[in-house]
Amino acid sequence: MTDYPATARERIWQFGTSHRKMARTGGPVVFDTADGCHLVDSTGRRYIDALSGVWVVNAGHSHPDIVAAMTAQATRLGYALSEEGFANTAAVDLATRLTDAVDGVYDRVYFTTGGSESVEMALRMARLYHSARGKPGKRTVISRQGSYHGTTLFTLGLSSYDIFSRAVGPLPDGLAKVVHPTCADCPLGRSYPGCAVGCAQDLADTIERLGPDTVAAFVAEPVSTSAGVAVPPPEYWPAVREICSRYDVLLVADEVVTGIGRCGDVLATRRFGIEADIVALAKALTSGYAPLGAVLTHRDITTGMPANALLIPGFTFTGHPVACAAATANLDILCRPEVHDGVHRKSARLATALRDRLGGRPHVGGIRVFGLLAAVDLEPPPTVPGRRTPSAAELSQLMTGWLLESGLYTRVVEGCVQLGPPLLAPDDLMDAIADHLASAFDRLA
Ligand code: PLP
Repeated sequence: MTDYPATARERIWQFGTSHRKMARTGGPVVFDTADGCHLVDSTGRRYIDALSGVWVVNAGHSHPDIVAAMTAQATRLGYALSEEGFANTAAVDLATRLTDAVDGVYDRVYFTTGGSESVEMALRMARLYHSARGKPGKRTVISRQGSYHGTTLFTLGLSSYDIFSRAVGPLPDGLAKVVHPTCADCPLGRSYPGCAVGCAQDLADTIERLGPDTVAAFVAEPVSTSAGVAVPPPEYWPAVREICSRYDVLLVADEVVTGIGRCGDVLATRRFGIEADIVALAKALTSGYAPLGAVLTHRDITTGMPANALLIPGFTFTGHPVACAAATANLDILCRPEVHDGVHRKSARLATALRDRLGGRPHVGGIRVFGLLAAVDLEPPPTVPGRRTPSAAELSQLMTGWLLESGLYTRVVEGCVQLGPPLLAPDDLMDAIADHLASAFDRLA
């Protein structure tokens, strides 16, 4: 019988961990099958998928409608070039379905194969937009400290993962950072609501300092998942929108995680009452059945882009027909009012279950829930003289292992338990997730 963890360790480069560390922990868990809200590994062990992979499988695993749409499309047309004057029916149908889902506010789509490509293409498009309109000096892209936008050199430069950037740099220039709206631990040392949303003002100050004629775009997640589901105060996004418009800086929403229903609407920016200029999507666009991302341009940007602007070279797999067919079926499942209502209902239930079962425990810090995005902070135990206190990384690893042992898959990253079950999950799965977490926290006591 094949020892899958050992074989995977030897044959696959693993991202986000070192091979030495993997050898110590026995190798990766190797998933083999899945259904609904559950994953099964190569030994037959079953887990609740409490993170939808990594905020990807919004429609749940093995959904028959998506499987059928992909099979039919692969039979009809598996691949055709979709650029330089060519397109395919599946890509055109998806672009129509997607722009309808956002009520035509965003009216043109560029397809990529994932989140890093979507963010990178969105920002290249922002630079192109300015240069094609006679402002070639507008090049700098501003992002927020503590964010993650992808793994290409450009998007890694916009992120705050120094450990990775140092290893693969130098990073591209023309990048700058502003503070994050994390009210629970304000980087400016202020407190809401007396702070006058200084985190948004930091963007205006940074644009002034760099020179408005040099800044192309500001990119951010509506709710930052990399900062542990940091939900900004209600004034933040309208203030940022106004600042971007004032300085002719394009607002790029990275909705790679938050989009496609995860936050109870097709886009999370809609929940904050704003329209971005460009939106980057990926992850749940196909619910993970095929790699696909999309860049949506606001109708004002589409019409403002000079007709002779030559778009950036594209990708071989742009508009891949089978991926597009999966996405159209996925949007038919997810872009329905009852699904969004279900997200709001389950969000409230998850918040209550987490607060009831975990709130007030010594090792539990903040608990944050927005739509079906959630995070629970792990507090390190108090220092005991003569006993070594485990680091956040060690605690995270222990917690991940205990949760897996108890039959729940999720990630614990830098002391933060990340959660995000499939959107169609039964309501009582929210209680089950909280129960699993409670039993893992019991072991820390
Ligand atoms: N943007 C955000 C907010 C993400 O969380 C990620 C990935 O986790 C990306 C971009 C990059 O997406 P991908 O891994 O599909 O390239």
